[in-house]
Amino acid sequence: MKGEILTTKGAVRAEFDFWVGLYLDKFLDGLEQKKFIGNKCSKCGKVYIPPRKICGDCFEHIEEYVDLPDIGVLTNFTFTKWAISERRPRQSKNIKMIGLVKLDGADSAMLLPILKTEPENLKIGMKVQVVWSEKPQGQPTDIKGFKPIGGA
Ligand SMILES: [Zn+2]
Repeated sequence: MKGEILTTKGAVRAEFDFWVGLYLDKFLDGLEQKKFIGNKCSKCGKVYIPPRKICGDCFEHIEEYVDLPDIGVLTNFTFTKWAISERRPRQSKNIKMIGLVKLDGADSAMLLPILKTEPENLKIGMKVQVVWSEKPQGQPTDIKGFKPIGGA
């Protein structure tokens, strides 16, 4: 037996948890309550969401958290018939829309699905509102996406 190497073939399931850090943890706590929590630089006034430790403009350490509304502006978008986040590319039955949304009062934007509209209705600058998951769990998936306001 000594010196022999046993081998086996098969998949190994590895489950693990890790802490996302103080700032993202605060953001995820907000999502669990269907709230957006960002933070504001005390030096230049820039508001980030998700919150971050250091201001990207002036390198100030950011400590002030701010609540942000669930309404914002679509600042850019794209759409595709190709499935997103799949292991291999394949065409989807539905067109998927992805948008860069800047919440009112924020200076940074989030990239999320655009829902409940058609690609031809998308316009840069249009107002959008968050669509929450029904049972938020403090996960990024608590945000299903954004929908146009006004039935566009
Ligand atoms: Zn700053």
